[in-house]
Amino acid sequence: MHELYTALAEYYDAIYRRRAERVGEEIDFVEGLFKNEAERRVRKILDLACGTGIPTLELARRGYQVTGLDLHDEMLAVARRKAEMEGLSVGFIQGNALEIDFEEDFDAVTMFFSSIMYFDDSAIQQLFNSVKRALRPGGLFIADFPCWFYGGEDGPIVWDERKGDERLIITDWREVEPAFQKLRFKRLVQILKPDGSVRAFMVNDELNVYTPREMRLLAEKHFRRVKIYGDLHELRPNDRRYWLVAVK
Ligand code: SAH
Repeated sequence: MHELYTALAEYYDAIYRRRAERVGEEIDFVEGLFKNEAERRVRKILDLACGTGIPTLELARRGYQVTGLDLHDEMLAVARRKAEMEGLSVGFIQGNALEIDFEEDFDAVTMFFSSIMYFDDSAIQQLFNSVKRALRPGGLFIADFPCWFYGGEDGPIVWDERKGDERLIITDWREVEPAFQKLRFKRLVQILKPDGSVRAFMVNDELNVYTPREMRLLAEKHFRRVKIYGDLHELRPNDRRYWLVAVK
C-alpha cells in the first residue's frame, strides 16, 4: 500500500501517540458494547487491520483471546514485538481482510481507527460477507470511522512527536472529493536526528468516505441488527467519530 505501513511502521505509534493514549477509553466503550449489544458472551475476537496492535493488545490485556490480522508484515512485526515484551499471548496473521476464511470462529470482529475506509462500495460488501461468516451467531462486528468533513480544514495540519532522540514533524493535507466521496490524503513525515540529519517520507493515500447513515444502510443488507454510535456514547448531534455496531 504505502510507506506509512512499511518504511514508517516503526514510527506509527509515535505518529499516533495521542490516539494510542485514548485506547483504554475506546476499549472501555467496546467492552460496554460486548455486554449490551452482543447476543453471546464475547471471549474470542478477530481484530482486522490490527496494525501495530494498539487496540489488539489492550483487548488481550483485558483477558480476551485475540487474533490480529493485517496486510503488512512491517506493522505485524511491531505488534508481535510489543506483545512479547508484555508477555501477552496474541496470534498475529498476515493477510487481506477481504480474503479471510473463518467459519463461525469468533464472538466479535473488530476493525479500529478508520481502517474500514480502505474499502469502497463493492469491497465493503465483500468485507461484511466475510466478517459475517467469521462470526458466531449473535456475535458483533465493530468498526469506527470519522465524519466526512474530517478533511475539510483549510491548509495543512501540522504536529510534532518524539521517538527516542528523534523528532518527528508530521504535515497532513486532507481533501474530500465530494462526487465520489474520496478522502485524499497527503502526509509529509520528517524525521530529525540529534546530529542534524533529516529523513523525509511523502505518503499518499485515498480513503472512502461514509456518512453514518450510508454505513448503517450498507451494513443492514448483511447483518440482523445494526446501530451507529457516536464518539464513545450514543450518537449525538455534532459527533465527529462513529462506531458501527452490527449483530449477526
Ligand atoms: N487498527 C489499527 C491500525 C490502523 S492503520 C489501530 O487501531 O491502530 C490501518 C491498517 O490497515 C494498516 O496497518 C494497514 O496495513 C491495514 N490494512 C489496510 N488494508 C487492509 C486489508 N485489506 N486487509 C488487512 N489489513 C489492511
